[in-house]
Amino acid sequence: MSSLKDFAVKGDKKIKLKQFATAPDDSISKEKIIRKTQENLEKMERFQDRLYSEGKEGLVLIFQAMDAAGKDSTIKNVMRGLNPQGIDVYSFKQPSGEEAAHSFLWRAIKCFPTRGKMAIFNRSYYEDVLVVKVHKLYETAKMPNRCKQGNVIERRYTDIKNFEEYEYNNGYRIIKFFLNVSKDEQKKRFLERIDLKIKNWKFSSSDLKERAHWDEYMKAYEAAINATATKHSPWYVLPADKKWYTRYLVSEAVLDVFKKIAPQYPELEEDAQQRLQADRECLIAEDNSR
Ligand code: ATP
Ligand code: MG
Repeated sequence: MSSLKDFAVKGDKKIKLKQFATAPDDSISKEKIIRKTQENLEKMERFQDRLYSEGKEGLVLIFQAMDAAGKDSTIKNVMRGLNPQGIDVYSFKQPSGEEAAHSFLWRAIKCFPTRGKMAIFNRSYYEDVLVVKVHKLYETAKMPNRCKQGNVIERRYTDIKNFEEYEYNNGYRIIKFFLNVSKDEQKKRFLERIDLKIKNWKFSSSDLKERAHWDEYMKAYEAAINATATKHSPWYVLPADKKWYTRYLVSEAVLDVFKKIAPQYPELEEDAQQRLQADRECLIAEDNSR
């Protein structure tokens, strides 16, 4: 049975996306995995409580994928186990006028949580080396020519890597998921979105236009993952054809990073503990006087 580390990319060697499975092995029991996921979600809740109480480290989970790979439902599942007061979700769509008028990391920096909290990015600044690369969108951006010359995307990889290390050095951990859905499964899900009335709203003709660029996207993902995977900010290339398996692996990765953070409930200083005892006695005396 495969484990999380089979899907982790940490920058020590170059990967080929083709070598990563899009579905679990037949030997993997769905019932067992669902049970383990539930256990993991409960553990995550306990970790998040400590993370929040300690307020020392922030955690950002980035989800990237082709359309219909299951980003939304995976995020919904991760959230199920967490306290909404300690986590925010942000979706990164086509940049607004104001966003496009800034440097590409600007809109993401604004979404970084305070330390002690978590954030989930549904798409992210990685779009600026994915869709922007596939369609060469930087060519039409309102920027000086020097910003469009040479290898724009390579420069952005470096910016991202430096940015993620900067965040790490400031008390943040960033982990990145690529939900690796197969082209066949995407077709199945698109057809379902077209055929089922209640799913129609999820489909847009532009999804089909992007599908036509599948191979270019795979190349862009592979290059981006290889250029930006590090020990501190790893990528996880997760099989996404079966949602129950993706959810399990995401919960494993989140638990793994929580274990690295090892958050602890803050211990009170001596004088604060004494104050607590005094308050306790006050409360007890109140009970007695009733
Ligand atoms: P869903 O389709 O499940 O609702 P989604 O994340 O695909 O979710 P959409 O509104 O369909 O949301 O698409 C957002 C689009 O915005 C994607 O096609 C994405 O590539 C694009 N996008 C995100 N960031 C940028 C960017 N910096 N430049 C250009 N396009 C971007
Ligand atoms: Mg979409």
